[in-house]
Amino acid sequence: MNITYQSTRGGEKGLTASQAILKGLACDGGLFMPDRIPKLDVSIEELAKMTYQETAYEVMKLFLTDFTEEELKTCIAGAYDEKFDCPEIAVLSKADGDYYLELYHGSTIAFKDMALSILPHLMTTAAKKNGVDNEIVILAATSGDTGKAGMAGFADVPGTRIIVFYPKGGVSRIQELQMVTQKGENTAVAAIRGNFDDAQTGVKKIFGDREFEKRLAEKGFQLSSANSINVGRLVPQIVYYVYAYAKLVENGEIENGEVINVTVPTGNFGNILAAYLAKQMGMPIGRLICASNENKVLYDFFSTGTYDRERPFILTSSPSMDILISSNLERLIYLSCGCDEAKTAELMRELSADGKYTVTEEMREFMADFWGGYAGEEENAGVIRSVFESCGYLMDTHTGVAAAVSRQYKKETGDGRKMLIASTASPFKFSGSVLEAIRGPQEGMDEFAVVDELSRVSGVPVPAAVEEIRTAPIRHNRECGPEEMEALVAEILGC
Ligand SMILES: *Cc1c(COP(=O)(O)O)cnc(C)c1O
Repeated sequence: MNITYQSTRGGEKGLTASQAILKGLACDGGLFMPDRIPKLDVSIEELAKMTYQETAYEVMKLFLTDFTEEELKTCIAGAYDEKFDCPEIAVLSKADGDYYLELYHGSTIAFKDMALSILPHLMTTAAKKNGVDNEIVILAATSGDTGKAGMAGFADVPGTRIIVFYPKGGVSRIQELQMVTQKGENTAVAAIRGNFDDAQTGVKKIFGDREFEKRLAEKGFQLSSANSINVGRLVPQIVYYVYAYAKLVENGEIENGEVINVTVPTGNFGNILAAYLAKQMGMPIGRLICASNENKVLYDFFSTGTYDRERPFILTSSPSMDILISSNLERLIYLSCGCDEAKTAELMRELSADGKYTVTEEMREFMADFWGGYAGEEENAGVIRSVFESCGYLMDTHTGVAAAVSRQYKKETGDGRKMLIASTASPFKFSGSVLEAIRGPQEGMDEFAVVDELSRVSGVPVPAAVEEIRTAPIRHNRECGPEEMEALVAEILGC
């Protein structure tokens, strides 16, 4: 049965998966959602024997129904290959009683690689299927990791360009170096004088500008999105939750059918939404613990039912989660009101006009699987240190937030089910903060001295992605204000 996609705000309906991937964001500013959430049609016993690539096919074929088997398998094979530093693609590690699902073994050492290594394949296949001759211009706002993973994925892919905006001063030094040294004739990156939300809002504004769309079309360009709002990112993210559960069964860590909880360090709400969809597809997942840093807008939302973005934006040591407008939450809002487009559109209008909205009691009830928590800097550093000291396992600052919140959850609820924690970045991507967490403040060391020290202290080799940027030349130095983003895109494209 074919699945079609519609906008959460009702403005577009009946798109195929490939059309939804090509468009990224719907014309009315809404996000594309499948008309239903399919159930897995293979058993957990069967999944337990499968490779990552085979699992990916079983999950993705159910959502991307207009892709042929051959197309999908070619996309999967092209994405999950030696770019990853281990054949498992996603790695399970047990530490201090919890299971860490390491999603950072791809080429840019953050979990964004899990979806952004396949998105270019899905996008170019979708273009071919739909007879698109225009060059596809990917615009992405990044809190640090999407930008690099997106550029790495799209670099020199024929028929595509990618332009990335990141908040100046709002990403780690390693993240910034990864982006500004990016190769590829079709890549461009600019620092925005503003925060991530400014960058994300700016990109959404460009997508909504019909005049600009026309101007680009005359020059043979069309825009698409690599942000986590694209269904071409959401669907591949479901895969690793299915895979992880099946592997826990295969490894004898859990019984087949045993319900486990999942904690996800959350920013734009894409990763945790994928875990929720895995549950809807039939995986035995209990609670979804949404872990925030001090930008705890989601914690407040789950505890009160009011989403209020009017608050100071705090720069933390988990910068990829420094977000006040969690775009993918709109998809949960939509599901929670029975796929009521008018209601969703109304709440999103309130968010942009008044900076807040409140959901109904029934909608809150619908979301009862979610539990929100947040961790400050000290608590985060404390858990990174204690897990490292007790079992030698090193995690990054985003995973630290999740580990801290999963402890809060167990303590407050007494829920003793086994916990899967999404580990979203290599500790080396945030070396300064991680080394400080385990060794206290370090004076007078440059970024790479810190990296080397972290490697020495932990016994973990420096990842190739970090070695690469040690000596790589800087290739990008653009900077602009949020209001100049559209003009910059035009300049880059020569329009
Ligand atoms: C993007 C990112 C997150 C947040 O994921 P969302 O899907 O935006 O909620 C968490 N940790 C790291 C390291 C990231 O790059």
